[in-house]
Amino acid sequence: MRVGNLSNRLTLFTELGAIDVEQSSGGLFAADPQAVYDRWDEFIAWVASPRSVTQAVPYATESLGPPAPRPRQVFAIGANYRAHLEEADFPVPEWPMIFTKWPSSFAGPFGEIVIPTDSVDWEAELVAIVGRRARNVTAERGWNYIAGLTVGQDVTERPIQVRGVMPQFSQSKSFPGFSPSGPWLVTLDEFTDPGDLEISCILNGRVVQKARTSDLIFTVPMIVAELSKTLTLEPGDVIFTGTPGGVGYNHKPPIYLAAGDKLVTTIERIGEMRHSIVSH
Ligand code: ZN
Repeated sequence: MRVGNLSNRLTLFTELGAIDVEQSSGGLFAADPQAVYDRWDEFIAWVASPRSVTQAVPYATESLGPPAPRPRQVFAIGANYRAHLEEADFPVPEWPMIFTKWPSSFAGPFGEIVIPTDSVDWEAELVAIVGRRARNVTAERGWNYIAGLTVGQDVTERPIQVRGVMPQFSQSKSFPGFSPSGPWLVTLDEFTDPGDLEISCILNGRVVQKARTSDLIFTVPMIVAELSKTLTLEPGDVIFTGTPGGVGYNHKPPIYLAAGDKLVTTIERIGEMRHSIVSH
């Protein structure tokens, strides 16, 4: 199942087009795309049940929004691909490095990213959305708490990320538009192996990042386990899982996003996001 956010309305996406869930369910489910995660099991059952389906309609990709637009909590993992650690010359971490991206930075999968400075970088990432409340869950059971996967960018202003004696990442990653995701959430039954997907980032037609999510040091179920040791994961929470090698500042010389750039972020079996970079 592909489910997401079309003009701020919960929408199923099929080969034939978009199906509005509130209309199709006769109001059983609200239009708010965020609200569905609190009733995720009920929603999955409704989608699987025989039902009268309203006609699927064509839609404009520009109207797609983030599949989970207003999560209670947002988590992001740093330094989580072996190749990215090698290029940054970091040791393999013993625990996941966890920060947040404030939801005011959320954006849809198509459109513009406004860069506030000349040192803004890309980070293609697999994003997992929580579908069930989780507390003290083991990694073996971690996938059971995930509603599905989507594509994300953890856009980052590099100098702010590393400033000060004890750098805090979140501010550098939370300018408006710095956390796009989409084009939709894909449920886990759609994947042969949800832990092994090709992820890539293409800047102006040039492949700058290409990896497989099987190279993650802390996998999605491991992240669920680690987070749920200290807090309760809530339905609709969003987890940015980290970026592979090939980010701009590790190029020699560094490359940063510039006005006019075209950024394409893709994960196999999920889809792609396309953004144009504009200056402030
Ligand atoms: Zn990141």
